[in-house]
Amino acid sequence: MLEELPDKRKAILDAMESVVPEEFRAEAEDLLEVYREDRIGLVLLLEFYSHLPESREDWIREVRVINRQRGIFLLAAITSHEMYQYLVSSEGIEFQGRVTDGFLADELIDFFGYDSAEAFKAVCAAADTLLVYEPLQLDEDICPACHAVAGEYHELGCPVEICPWCGGQLIHCDCRYEKLGLDAISSEEELQQFEVLLEEQGRLPYSREQRPSFADDGPNSVFD
Ligand SMILES: [Zn+2]
Ligand SMILES: [Zn+2]
Repeated sequence: MLEELPDKRKAILDAMESVVPEEFRAEAEDLLEVYREDRIGLVLLLEFYSHLPESREDWIREVRVINRQRGIFLLAAITSHEMYQYLVSSEGIEFQGRVTDGFLADELIDFFGYDSAEAFKAVCAAADTLLVYEPLQLDEDICPACHAVAGEYHELGCPVEICPWCGGQLIHCDCRYEKLGLDAISSEEELQQFEVLLEEQGRLPYSREQRPSFADDGPNSVFD
């Protein structure tokens, strides 16, 4: 996956060249402009334009949110021909078929909290009422780095998470070493031990007051 946003934008523009009909190029590029600083949006555009679901010219008019849970989005890409669903996080993307089929794997039905496959189908049938996907950097209720929603825990290793012991930045303070009595965390086991201590102490969920001014840091883990 391309790490830098300008690289992603360039790759999307390159991919658009061969698949977006000339007369719609400007509109397709307008959407890229909307999501120019948004990782999730760019991941979706790059995936769509690099691997078109069907082999015919097409372009995305609009992106809507079917659901979102803990930084994982189920998005509808509305194109000039179809509506496709994608599972997207800052970690990656998976194509999930057409919205019009109203189908999602059972584990995802559970994950997103639908009562049944039928309940999900009903949501898909009313896809025109779904909210438009807003670029994350503008949405103050979402952690700009790990995309936790206000009230949810950050992804462990998120640079925005605040340490419940010292009030500093959890990935930068020394509390993890002090609490574990270690000089370094060098195994998955030690990391898990720390997570247990952290949960006992009480992790601080995301809230908009935590928004940093350095929003472009990405969910990089210092624990590995
Ligand atoms: Zn976060
Ligand atoms: Zn600390």
